[in-house]
Amino acid sequence: VHFPGRGGMLSNLFGRPAAHVRAIDGVDLTVRRGEILAVVGESGSGKSTVGRVITKLVQPTGGKLVFDGRDMTSVEGLALRPYRHRVQMIFQDAYQALNPRHTIFDIVAEGVRSLHLVSGHEAIMQRVAKSLAAAGLNAPQDFFARFPHELSGGQRQRVVIAGALAVEPELIVADEPVSMLDVSIRAQILQVLIDLRTQRNMALLFITHDLPVAWSIADRIAVMYLGRIVEIGSADDITFNPKHPYTVALRDATPKVRPMINADPLPGLNGEVPSAARIPTGCRFHPRCPLAMDRCRQEEPPVVDVGPHHQSACWLAGTSQHS
Ligand code: SF4
Ligand code: MG
Repeated sequence: VHFPGRGGMLSNLFGRPAAHVRAIDGVDLTVRRGEILAVVGESGSGKSTVGRVITKLVQPTGGKLVFDGRDMTSVEGLALRPYRHRVQMIFQDAYQALNPRHTIFDIVAEGVRSLHLVSGHEAIMQRVAKSLAAAGLNAPQDFFARFPHELSGGQRQRVVIAGALAVEPELIVADEPVSMLDVSIRAQILQVLIDLRTQRNMALLFITHDLPVAWSIADRIAVMYLGRIVEIGSADDITFNPKHPYTVALRDATPKVRPMINADPLPGLNGEVPSAARIPTGCRFHPRCPLAMDRCRQEEPPVVDVGPHHQSACWLAGTSQHS
């Protein structure tokens, strides 16, 4: 997905032109087959919007979405069906995502039926059972006739994952899939996703506000701030060797990671995330950045290489002012 800087705008979901907000801007992301890419950011960073653009839940007014060599940017309606088959989205709130009046069987079978992927009740039953098992629900048949309210939060999220898996996608976009679950369940759900990547060579775009969760699951991490990617690199580099002051602040705010780092912490961040409707001039992080200089208030820093497969958008990139 590619959104040229200062160009692309996203139309508001409800189509009120006056409400246009530039939710993502200058974002250029590639997810490879078999790769887990985490997109990390606070609320308002635009990370969910990236997921919604990729899954075609919102239509951007600029930029480009390419999937497997095909430009999907303006594909709509029935022509989208094959794409809906190949790209699935999992949301944070499994309870919201599941129709309370539908059985687990009907929920998981929905995509298979509407996309006509297999025919005949027997084949659909097999596909549903296989998907529930792959999502980590043992004895899948026992869940067929049950309803969402009869399940635990962890089981419901597994049902959501099973629904996505049932259509055998090549890419899953997962928006905060574990953030509403108990800590004890989180690792199990993450393991399900990691196993799927290994077994099916599936790509996963994993959206989270939680840097340690991103590190635990992803090959690469992209850090977003106010609609831009400020740093991208391997999960280890972003977590243990961040170059952008914002990523450093995220790392320092993580009690488990901090003691593992042999570097001084930066002073804390100033203030709150500004509104996406009022993007600061220059480096959009400057009002909160403890290292901001005059130049940062005027000019937007380009994304530059700071190491192998590691890029950052900061005027201090390449200097050793922070580590
Ligand atoms: Fe901070 Fe300036 Fe770097 Fe932006 S460009 S992150 S304000 S030092
Ligand atoms: Mg969100």
